[in-house]
Amino acid sequence: DDELKQAIRTIADYPKPGIMFRDITTLLGNARAFRRAVDQLVQPYAGAKIDQVAGIEARGFILGGAVAHQLSSGFVPIRKKGKLPHQTVRMAYALEYGTDEMEIHVDAIKPGERVVLVDDLIATGGTAEGAVKLLRQIGADVVAACFIIDLPELGGADKLRAMGVDVRTLVT
Ligand code: IMP
Repeated sequence: DDELKQAIRTIADYPKPGIMFRDITTLLGNARAFRRAVDQLVQPYAGAKIDQVAGIEARGFILGGAVAHQLSSGFVPIRKKGKLPHQTVRMAYALEYGTDEMEIHVDAIKPGERVVLVDDLIATGGTAEGAVKLLRQIGADVVAACFIIDLPELGGADKLRAMGVDVRTLVT
């Protein structure tokens, strides 16, 4: 979608030299583009009964909250380790160099609940793969994962599809 693409800013050499960082703060601050993005993210699930939207810290919280409201679903945060107050399940996930860990509350989702995962961007898919594994570990039925931006040459969307997740992205 060209209108969404134009609302995203690219910052060269952030956070490291050679990286082109896709900055969605300009999209979020553009009322028309923000609504358009959320409308497009929820469109396939209108009328489908989605119990919970899971968002990945931190930009997935902003989008996921809006998506959950529009779908009349609950919202479940997936956070970096050590941030959630109740008992959690923890999952290691691959970063470009090394690994990190993310967590979800053990009782955040009832077994069999239908969940849509939301984040701003999928690159290698390591982050989203970890999130899908966490959700499945606590019994979620992961219906789909949606992102504003796909970097297809990094293969993340294909990796998630190979795990049996329906992937939806708005801008390539
Ligand atoms: P992946 O695990 O390689 O798919 O990287 C995706 C994660 O890194 C997501 O949580 C994104 O928010 C973040 N990320 C990676 N590259 C960018 C970028 O260019 N802009 C914004 N977020 C990014």
